[in-house]
Amino acid sequence: MTEQEATFQSALTAAFFSSGLASLLTPERGEAFYALYRLLLEENEKYNLTALTSMEDVVLLHFADSLMGADLIPAGASVIDVGCGAGFPSLPLAIVRPDLTVTASDATAKRTAFVGMVAERLGLCGLRTLTGRAEELSRTAHRDAYDVATARAVAALPTLLELCAPFVRKGGLFLALKGRSAMQELEAARHAMGELKCKVRFTEEYDIGEGEAAQARGILLLEKLAPTPATYPRAYARMKSRPL
Ligand code: SAH
Repeated sequence: MTEQEATFQSALTAAFFSSGLASLLTPERGEAFYALYRLLLEENEKYNLTALTSMEDVVLLHFADSLMGADLIPAGASVIDVGCGAGFPSLPLAIVRPDLTVTASDATAKRTAFVGMVAERLGLCGLRTLTGRAEELSRTAHRDAYDVATARAVAALPTLLELCAPFVRKGGLFLALKGRSAMQELEAARHAMGELKCKVRFTEEYDIGEGEAAQARGILLLEKLAPTPATYPRAYARMKSRPL
C-alpha cells in the first residue's frame, strides 16, 4: 500500500467511524473507495465533478454523507439516484450494498459517463447509468419501475418529490438526503405529498463531522401510497415557477 493510500484508509475509517458507518467498511470496500477517490480527482478537470477535493472532505462529505440513509433501503431493492452528478449517493451505495440494483441518472451525459466509467473500473456489476432529464425519463418505461428513488442536493423538496415520486412503484420509497433545512422543507412539501400520494415514513436530523467541522443534515423517507397522477411530473419550467 502506498503512503497516500494508507493516509486515505485512515481518513476513510475515521469518517465512517464518526458517522456510525464503521460496520459498512471492509478492506475490499476501502480499496474501492480509494480507487473512486483517485478517479474523482484525476477526472475532475475533464468532467467538472466536484468542488470538494481534500481527502477529509471527500471521505466525509461525499462518501460517508452518501451512505447516511443506506440502512433504510430494503435488501435487494432497485434504486434510482435522481441527479447523481459525479455518482453521489449511487457510487458509495453500489460499493457497500452489492445486493442493490442501482441506476445512476443525470441530465448531463458527461456526469453519467464518469459514473459508468468508475463502475466498470471498480467492477460494480449492480450499477448502470441513465442519461436524461428526470421529468422526461419518468414518462417512459422507467415510470413506476423502482423500489426506491433517492437524491442528494438536486432541488427543494416539493420539486424534488415531483421529479422522484413518478419513478417509484406503489408501496415504494423516496429517500431524500437533505441539509439543515430538511424539516422546514418537509413542512413546505405537505401539499406536494398529497398531490403525489406520498406520506412520511421516517425522518432523522443529525450532524455529519465533528466539532467545528460539523454540518447539519436531515434524512427524509417517504412512501408512495398510490400511482402518481398522470399530470405529474409537469415540465421543469412549470415545476420551478409553480412548485406544488
Ligand atoms: N447528487 C449529486 C449531484 C448534485 S448536483 C451530489 O449530491 O453530489 C445536481 C445534479 O442534478 C446535477 O448533476 C444536475 O445535472 C442534476 N439535475 C438537476 N435537475 C435535473 C433534472 N431535472 N433531471 C436530471 N438531472 C437533473
